[in-house]
Amino acid sequence: MNLRIAIQKSGRLSEDSLKLLNDCGISVKSAGAKLRSQAENFPVEVYFLRDDDIPQYVQDGVADLGVVGENVLYEKCKDVEVVQKLGFGRCRLSLAVPRNSAYQSVASLEGRKIATSYPFLVESWLRQNRVDAEIHEISGSVEIAPGIGLADAVCDLVSSGSTLFMNGLQEVETILESEAVLVKKTELDEEKEKLLRKLLFRINSVQAARKNKYILLNAPNDALDEIFALLPGMKSPTVLPLAEEGWSSVHSVVPEAEFWDKIEALKYAGAQGILVVPIEKMIQ
Ligand code: ATP
Ligand code: ZN
Repeated sequence: MNLRIAIQKSGRLSEDSLKLLNDCGISVKSAGAKLRSQAENFPVEVYFLRDDDIPQYVQDGVADLGVVGENVLYEKCKDVEVVQKLGFGRCRLSLAVPRNSAYQSVASLEGRKIATSYPFLVESWLRQNRVDAEIHEISGSVEIAPGIGLADAVCDLVSSGSTLFMNGLQEVETILESEAVLVKKTELDEEKEKLLRKLLFRINSVQAARKNKYILLNAPNDALDEIFALLPGMKSPTVLPLAEEGWSSVHSVVPEAEFWDKIEALKYAGAQGILVVPIEKMIQ
């Protein structure tokens, strides 16, 4: 019995999807010329597909699980269940217009032509905003459409905005914030659900580890109270006496997001020789 997981064969999500599986202790080789690959040490078979096809394959039960961007998932409207957000492949689906155009609000789009590869999402967004515009569906290089007179605006994926900028466009509305998600077929049999729970346990440990750092520092004992107050840790910090009288070594876990602020505060409180190390897995 295998859990069949569909991931993107080659593209922006491929490397992170494979890395997530590998970090979960599931060793799979990258696609190469192959369409599928059996993991060596976990009952998982990976299918390498175009990202656009993944929702359909999971809906139909050709694959049990899939890793796909929310943008593709919500455009395709397939009947699958989102199990977990994965924290990579972040981007936004945005509306952009030529920099010299007099865009004021959504109403400026009335009667205009919008080029996009996301007709369903754009149509729904226009309807919500009670604007009537014409959608021109194209499958790639959407950003050149205004320059060649094909459309007045575009709706496309953006991460840094540099592609839009290079094409003389400015981003004016965000239609969807997107990241990669793990999806599953709505009904899985009990044995596969059990495997999925095992996989999710591993994914959660990997994600928690990525969000935290392990920190070690030395401090004079009279600074410890102030230092403890700065360190949440998983329970409470570990404290070990140093060979030098009156000094201790303190170990704890700090969330990545608060990291630099904490380091500064710890130094100010008297901490020295601060070491920060990545955490490989974090089981809570
Ligand atoms: P495929 O050949 O599998 O159809 P593709 O060309 O449609 O590939 P990619 O460009 O590899 O797809 O993007 C895959 C996903 O990566 C997107 O659907 C989106 O969820 C995510 N992504 C993250 N940042 C960006 C970005 N700046 N531009 C496009 N996609 C992005
Ligand atoms: Zn695609």
